Amino acid sequence: MSINKVDSQINVANNLMLINQKIQAALKRATRQKDDVQLIAVSKVQPVEKIEAALVKGHRLFGENRVQEAALKWPALKIKYPDAKLHLIGPLQTNKVKDAIMLFDVIETLDRLKLAEEIKKQSVKKGSDITCYVQVNTGEEEQKAGVFPAEAEKFVKHCQDTVGLNIKGLMCIPPVNEESALHFSLLGEIAGRLKLPILSMGMSDDFETAIAFGATHVRIGSSIFGRRENS
Ligand SMILES: *Cc1c(COP(=O)(O)O)cnc(C)c1O
Repeated sequence: MSINKVDSQINVANNLMLINQKIQAALKRATRQKDDVQLIAVSKVQPVEKIEAALVKGHRLFGENRVQEAALKWPALKIKYPDAKLHLIGPLQTNKVKDAIMLFDVIETLDRLKLAEEIKKQSVKKGSDITCYVQVNTGEEEQKAGVFPAEAEKFVKHCQDTVGLNIKGLMCIPPVNEESALHFSLLGEIAGRLKLPILSMGMSDDFETAIAFGATHVRIGSSIFGRRENS
């Protein structure tokens, strides 16, 4: 193994430890319990060696944003680490749903009826339901995925009651140039009204704020694995 490779694995292990410490400190400041937040290590565009460095250290929860990329990296890793869990955190096309429900444990980016219906159809074929979170476009940005806040309640209820999906939570990606706190607070409010227990919010730059606003899952990539090479 090259020195560079060993180096980057040591870095991943250290970064993971540091982030976990910061999560614990943020939980304490918010007078929340030690295990109230789960860390999703976002491994998109990262090489398998770095992912394995986290797995070797006992980390088991990961996020990927593309079905095709996950299909190349994860089947082999899941054989080696069968208890690893994978969340889809990027947009999902209906023609990829069949593959997605085979690869992922949770789909965090449900945001339209056609997608909900396809997830149900493929889940019935597979014989097991997949857990979904609904993505909310809290900033109402045109180019961003997610249902608008005003439509979120109706959409979630329709997915639960009519389509029959297992919706456990909400996720959001705040606009880059706005105060994340406002968006985290809004997402928490909507989840509260719907009695959904899970809030997936907060990334490398704002996860501590997200924890203060009740995040149950934070999605952290670059602070663990380093800057993504082609982004
Ligand atoms: C890439 C990505 C993350 C992680 O972002 P970092 O800033 O690298 O921590 C979190 N959530 C989503 C949806 C992403 O696409």
